[in-house]
Amino acid sequence: GSVIGILGGGQLGRMLALAAARLGLRCHIYEPSETPPAAQVAERCTTAAWEDRAALEAFARGVDVVTYEFENVPTEALDVIEAIRPIRPGRRALAISQDRLTEKTFLQDLGLATAPFSEVGSADQLRTAAETLGLPGILKTRRFGYDGKGQVRLREGDDLAAAWAAMQGTPAILEGFVAFSAEVSVIGARGVDGAVACFDPGENVHEDGILRTTTVPARLAPSLAADAVLLTGRLLNALDYVGVIGVELFVCDGGLVVNEFAPRVHNSGHWTQTGCTICQFEQHVRAVAGWPLGDGTRHSDVVMENLIGNDMDRVPELAASGAALHLYGKAEARAGRKMGHVNRIVGHG
Ligand code: ATP
Ligand code: MG
Ligand code: MG
Repeated sequence: GSVIGILGGGQLGRMLALAAARLGLRCHIYEPSETPPAAQVAERCTTAAWEDRAALEAFARGVDVVTYEFENVPTEALDVIEAIRPIRPGRRALAISQDRLTEKTFLQDLGLATAPFSEVGSADQLRTAAETLGLPGILKTRRFGYDGKGQVRLREGDDLAAAWAAMQGTPAILEGFVAFSAEVSVIGARGVDGAVACFDPGENVHEDGILRTTTVPARLAPSLAADAVLLTGRLLNALDYVGVIGVELFVCDGGLVVNEFAPRVHNSGHWTQTGCTICQFEQHVRAVAGWPLGDGTRHSDVVMENLIGNDMDRVPELAASGAALHLYGKAEARAGRKMGHVNRIVGHG
């Protein structure tokens, strides 16, 4: 297809549209909010609600294939679109990853290690879960959580009834706390033809639940680096996936534990814009457009740093530093808001 429809107009959609443009492909964005970052660089942007059936139908007819840059697109909107155009990655990957309970169950069924977890839908269930799994643990909403939002850390002796009350009835899971030595992620890709390619694992540092930096190469024993890539391939094949996926992993004494996966390009893959010939955004565009996957070999060691909130004050200095600066064109720099990122080459791998 030569026109790609992107559901969601945030920075990920913006960078997908920029990568598509380099390949001579056009992008149409569908986004409910006014003036999203992606609209500045895409050929067309539909501003309409996810419930607007007529707008969704017109959008779908105007494109050849539809992808998404955030995973909480309502199911009903996808039903409308899917009747008209293919959605890549497919609905199954999206449905599984939208809910932490189905996601962790799916990963365990695949034979992959996850944090121990238990469904929590009441104060009673939270008490039982805490007894079974032990504390410390993390109470997480099943749906709609990102950047650590919708999570409460629980320690031995904490008031569980109060913790459940604070969730205001939102379906949740309790996860046992994983004692990890590092967090790494793999950005994987699978083409329409079933070919699989993975970027080198990156090492992630979070602050206040938000990704702060990604460093490549990750400090990871060769056997674990291989395992990270192989399990990502297994996940891609099991989902019959088309496009780019982000897989977050905990490095533990006993091996890798899967935290979660995102069925889209991923913040921890932004380093590929500077470290590889083909970045994650182009790789995703290639996959969903039915092109062969590109060469994602890492040619440089990179540190990616997110610019969050008033990190924007550092832009003049960063602009003069020789690092690769990526700004998302967001008007307001609110606290905790991802405004841009900077990629620094720190070596040649
Ligand atoms: P994202 O923005 O990556 O989607 P999220 O809101 O879905 O974030 P998680 O990735 O589940 O949240 O958790 C955020 C961070 O909290 C993790 O990267 C990790 O540092 C920590 N964390 C999450 N779950 C656990 C766990 N079971 N044990 C220890 N630390 C955890
Ligand atoms: Mg998440
Ligand atoms: Mg996460």
